[in-house]
Amino acid sequence: MAATYDAIVVGGGHNGLVAAAYLARSGARTLVLEGRHKTGGAATTEAPWPEAPEFKVTRLSYVMSLMPPTIIKDLDLARHGYQIYPMGGHAALGCLASRAGRGARAAAADRAARHRLAQAA
Ligand SMILES: Cc1cc2nc3c(=O)[nH]c(=O)nc-3n(C[C@H](O)[C@H](O)[C@H](O)COP(=O)(O)OP(=O)(O)OC[C@H]3O[C@@H](n4cnc5c(N)ncnc54)[C@H](O)[C@@H]3O)c2cc1C
Repeated sequence: MAATYDAIVVGGGHNGLVAAAYLARSGARTLVLEGRHKTGGAATTEAPWPEAPEFKVTRLSYVMSLMPPTIIKDLDLARHGYQIYPMGGHAALGCLASRAGRGARAAAADRAARHRLAQAA
């Protein structure tokens, strides 16, 4: 790791990563500092329900409608693994941490599983 940098980006969410990519491309020696165990911020995919690890969801950014195609093309993201998975006809968000919230999340996961099974049938 270099001892000095031209630019330090705090936060490796998608905005930080895009900014860092453009900075690095312009020749700036760039460092990204991310507090979590992985980059991506709200756009990461995670399995938040220990009792149902097969259910993976984005943390908050659930559609890519605001991602400018110019950035996708400009940074050649497809070559780096960027891929969009189109959503089905519904989405479920579970954000509650309470016992009632756990019940609601389990119910939402159950509904999602049944919906997928119905679609596959
Ligand atoms: C409920 C909800 C739904 C949304 N739905 C959509 C959607 O459908 N489509 C869409 O395009 N956008 C959506 N958004 C907006 C989207 O989530 C944000 O615009 C986007 O995540 C912002 O990206 P970011 O990189 O700026 O920040 P974030 O994604 O929040 O990333 C910030 C990163 O910085 C790190 N960090 C913070 N402080 C520090 C620190 N001091 N040191 C080190 N690291 C730090 C964090 O760990 C995190 O990884 C939604 C937002 C919300 C709240």
